[in-house]
This record gives sequence, C-alpha cells and structure tokens, in this order.
Amino acid sequence: MNWDDFEAWSKRIATWGARYHKTLRDRPVRAQTGPGQIAAQLPAQPPEAPEDMAAIMADFDTIVMPGMTHWQHPRFFAYFPANATPPSMLAEQLVNTVAAQCMLWQTSPAATEVEGRMIDWLRQALGLAEGFTGVIQDSASSATLSAVLTMRERATGHTGNREGLSGKGHLRIYCSDQVHSSIDRACWVAGIGQDNLVKIAASGPLHGMDAAALDAAIRADIAAGHTPAGIIAITGGTGVGACDDLEAVLQVARRHDLYTHLDAAWAGSAMICPEFRARFWAGVDGFDSIVFNPHKWLGAQFDCSVQFLRDATPQLNTLKIEPEYLRTSGAAVTNYSEWTIPLGRRFRALKLWFLIRSYGLDGLRARIRNHVLWAQELCEALRALDGFEIVTEPILSVFSFRCPGDDTMQQWLVDAINDDGRIYLTQGAFGGRKVIRVQVGQFDTTRADVMTVHEVVSDIWQRLR
Ligand SMILES: *Cc1c(COP(=O)(O)O)cnc(C)c1O
Repeated sequence: MNWDDFEAWSKRIATWGARYHKTLRDRPVRAQTGPGQIAAQLPAQPPEAPEDMAAIMADFDTIVMPGMTHWQHPRFFAYFPANATPPSMLAEQLVNTVAAQCMLWQTSPAATEVEGRMIDWLRQALGLAEGFTGVIQDSASSATLSAVLTMRERATGHTGNREGLSGKGHLRIYCSDQVHSSIDRACWVAGIGQDNLVKIAASGPLHGMDAAALDAAIRADIAAGHTPAGIIAITGGTGVGACDDLEAVLQVARRHDLYTHLDAAWAGSAMICPEFRARFWAGVDGFDSIVFNPHKWLGAQFDCSVQFLRDATPQLNTLKIEPEYLRTSGAAVTNYSEWTIPLGRRFRALKLWFLIRSYGLDGLRARIRNHVLWAQELCEALRALDGFEIVTEPILSVFSFRCPGDDTMQQWLVDAINDDGRIYLTQGAFGGRKVIRVQVGQFDTTRADVMTVHEVVSDIWQRLR
C-alpha cells in the first residue's frame, strides 16, 4: 500500500467510524453469532498473493462485524464500561500513525513528558496529595503485578530477583474476598502462590474487609513464622462494587510495616467528583500504590491504566534493569520502561491529553454523576417489580438483583435478555447465590437508555414466566 492509498482508506474508515457510532443504538448489543461461525468463514491458509484493500474491507464488514459485541453501545450494562470517546480515538489514530516506541525519554521525549504531566493532572483530578508520581500501564493487572513484585522484593530485602524465592519461607499478602481475579494471578506469577494470598471476609454496607480480622490474620502468620509482605485494598470491586475502609486498612498496614496497594480500577474514575470521596476515598493518600483505569469509566480508549506511586523508589528497585544498549547519557530524565514489566511502550498519554482537554473535568464529571443517579433510579424501578429482590444496593453505579426463583432461573433470565439484544447484562455471584448485575457507565448512555433495562426485564419476565 502506498501513502496515497493510505490517505484514501483512512478517510473511508473515518466515514465508516462516524456512521457506525451514529447507528450503534439500532444494533443488538451482544454479538448474536454462535461459536465457530466466524472462523468457518476465514480461509484455512494464508494468501500467497497480495489482496486488494477493497476486498479486505468488504470481508471486514460481512465476516467480522456480525461477530462483534458493541462495547460502546449506549445500552451496554454488562461487566464494566470500556468507554472510547471520539477525542481519545483521534489521539490513538495519531499514535498508531507515528508508531513510536516510547520506552525511554530519548526514544520520544514528548511521550515521556506528556505522560508525566497527565499523571499529575489526574493526581489533582482524583484529589490525591502532592508528591504522588506514577506511570501509565497497559492494564490494572500489570500495575497490580508490579505492586505485588514490589511487596515481594521489599519483604525479602531485595533478594528475590537475584536469588529466587527458594528457602525464603512463605510470603503472605492480604486482601478481602471481594477482590478481582487479577490479584490472585499477580500472586501466582510473582511466586507468592494462591495459598499465601489471605482473603479476609467482607461485610457491611460497602462489603469491606474487617480490619480486626485482617490484623488477627497477620499476627497469626507472624506467630507461624510466615512473612507478611503487603495488603491490597479495593475501592469498587468488580462484582458488586465492594469498598474497603481505607483508613482502617492503613492502620493495620502501619502497625506491621506493610506495603499497600489499592485497586480502584473501575471506581477510581468517579473520584474526579469530590462528593464521592468522603465515602469511598478517605485515607487514600496513605497508600503506596494506587491503580485506576481511565480506559474504563473515564473515556480513554483501551488500553490506559494509571498507577500512582507515593514513592517510586521501591518499584524502581524492583523492576529497573539497564543493559548497555538502553543506557541514556546526559541529564537526569525519566525512563518509564524502568517502572514497568514490559520494555516497549505505546504513547498512551496522548489520548488522556485529548480527552481531558476536549471535555474538561466538568464534562467528565457530569456524565459520571448522571450514571450514578440513573443507576439508583433503575434500582428502585427493579425493586418495585413483583417478587424481584435487590441483592446488593448501588455502590456508585453498580448493583445486583434477582428475579423470583432459583439460580437456574437467574441464568435463564440473563440469557433471554441478551438474546433479545436491546440491552446487555451479565450475571455474578454474591453470598453464594447467582445475581444479575447492572453497571451504568456508557459514555453516551441516556436516562431513557438506562430505564430500558426495566422495560426489557419486565417484558421478558412477563413473556417467559
Ligand atoms: C477491570 C478491573 C481489573 C482488571 O483490569 P485490567 O485493566 O483489565 O487488568 C482489576 N480490578 C478491578 C476492580 C477491575 O474492575
């Protein structure tokens, strides 16, 4: 392909993109294809001869698109939001086109310096104290793994990387039973092991871990000769939005000199609204590491996960490696690849710059406030349905409910809703029971879109009961 063709196709794809988004409301939210249906349409062997872009694009429309679930759909209420706002998409087009590797300051000074500034803009936006720095990672899973590795190195006197963990006894990490599976996997990969991830039962209206039980677990481990290494708290667990009491967790951490990480991957975005901070964010400045995903609720296209660090030194001591070919000479500069596990880095900060400038924090706050409000309204409407039960009350914009009947009935209702296509919901588990989960957070959703959930749920329940 030459650059004239590139220009022509870029324009056609921009037109395609605008039309796609303008007609998104008319499409079923979840892909309506069965397993293997898309693969069956792809040739088993790669082509030997070049093919025309027109043919490739035509196949994209007829083969690929029917197999896509529309995450930007205004009536997507499943999992979590993965908002990709237009300005962030435009920034990604530029990043894709320039295609720089931004691993070191000198491999693209602008990428490093915009990243540093965006981290500080977001620090202020989320009400975090001065002094926090940070880095943009691909995902919260990677940020959490970085924090767990830091816990491991700190607890082993920085000998884990060099000597391995053999003969070092059991390192222990603590969290609630509401954490995301990325915390389990970080402990697997870091060599801590699932059995050494101690999960404290969550309770109360915000489903937080019991600080006294946390303290007792740590004391028992010390008595048993184990080595406590760190505590992971959550603000806004993926399941039902569980939030730990941050001050209480930090008190325990200080008592035992433990490194702390806070997973606010989903709910962190809502902390740009000061009114939510008293309930969900009090004490946050005491955490050593905090992760939140602008690629979820805030509107930065995937991938974009921000890890804030109160002091970057422990993580740099854990992850920094400097072979000769990566050495940079001259003035002291930040090389962000030293802060993370992968060496290669995309220029992820650009979409934050486009996003934040394009909407302003006020524009972003207005959306999040609406989502929280509409989730509450929808929750009340579902509560009023005959025999329906709200299992977990709204935390920010997430809640869960059950229809009358057993777990099979819940799954059957979810499947019927998603086959219908007007909305998309997912099931979850709480207290050993299956629940139907709702999250409101799509960038372009309206109050009417949100209330459609009530209409569809009652419709299908009436019809299939
Ligand atoms: C989504 C989510 C994660 C995982 O985020 P990735 O960026 O996909 O790794 C972790 N924790 C919570 C609370 C989440 O909501």
